[in-house]
Amino acid sequence: MRVGDHEMPGVADVVVVGGGLVGLATAYHLVREGRRVALVDRGDRGRATDAGAGILSPAVSGRGEAVAAFAEAAAAYYPQLADALRAEEAGETGYAAAPLLFVAADDTDLEAFTALKETLTRPAGRPSGRAQPAEVSPGHARSLMPLLGPVAAALLVPDAARVDGRLLSGALRRAAERRGLAVRVGSVERLLVEGGRVRGVMVDGERLAADQVVAAGGAWSRALGEPLGLTLPVEPQRGQIVHLRPPESTAGWAMVMAMDDHYLVPWPDGRVAAGATRETGSGFDPRPTARGVQQVLSAALRLAP
Ligand SMILES: Cc1cc2nc3c(=O)[nH]c(=O)nc-3n(C[C@H](O)[C@H](O)[C@H](O)COP(=O)(O)OP(=O)(O)OC[C@H]3O[C@@H](n4cnc5c(N)ncnc54)[C@H](O)[C@@H]3O)c2cc1C
Repeated sequence: MRVGDHEMPGVADVVVVGGGLVGLATAYHLVREGRRVALVDRGDRGRATDAGAGILSPAVSGRGEAVAAFAEAAAAYYPQLADALRAEEAGETGYAAAPLLFVAADDTDLEAFTALKETLTRPAGRPSGRAQPAEVSPGHARSLMPLLGPVAAALLVPDAARVDGRLLSGALRRAAERRGLAVRVGSVERLLVEGGRVRGVMVDGERLAADQVVAAGGAWSRALGEPLGLTLPVEPQRGQIVHLRPPESTAGWAMVMAMDDHYLVPWPDGRVAAGATRETGSGFDPRPTARGVQQVLSAALRLAP
């Protein structure tokens, strides 16, 4: 079978299941190491990579020490990755440094703000050499994000960044394909298990053998483990974002995170992404809802009336 510029092998060192950011980043780094890699992607509607707001900051990861350390390392690696993809002329990634403001809009947010400030400004909270978050005046916050309305308190994370998930995944794919990645559009029905270990995958009725298989199926990953009796702790959660286009130039504006985890992400093309709902129990239904749009707009208008 021929896919893109490469023959889809019947055997690979590694098969990656899923062509979102996680699968493509994995595949790109593996082919850079000289491994023979095949990636299978079903292109499900509603996948996270196409929806992500693009905020890159360990300060928003907040899920325990292991995740925090991983997020710090990932944030520190991003500039290197963006440079490598640029050097390979793989296309735009949308990666750029951008300040991030945590904003308490009024007094009801102050308790959460104080707790967050205490965590983010703790000396042990960030590796040395990284700029430390610091409280700034409401006026300073508004100078960084002119749409802000009332501000009771604001904390500036100076060294955050943003990236465009669609652009980055396109660049990773181009760079990886040039280095020999074989991409197949298809559905991995199940993992092949022989002699007590995973030996490949079944793709639309065809066998694809591999020494190793990477499950990078995003919210759909749980289905891959089930036949093996493995329960991967992953479930779908719908997130809705509204893209707004204010009349002003948005270039250089800071990203804003509210105390209820809603956010505004300005892009240099004039867009401001306002997000997001986090709808546990939504299933795999990617359709926007009136209630979701209302929630996101209300939260955005609270920050930027
Ligand atoms: C609204 C929203 C806002 C977000 N904002 C941010 C943010 O600001 N900052 C941040 O860091 N992160 C953010 N995220 C999270 C980020 O987008 C995700 O962590 C990331 O994109 C996950 O990528 P992924 O490759 O794991 O999954 P996905 O992008 O969902 O890709 C999974 C792929 O695997 C394929 N697949 C699954 N099963 C199979 C199978 N059996 N066979 C073949 N293919 C299969 C699917 O079709 C899909 O293409 C946000 C997410 C959402 C939804």
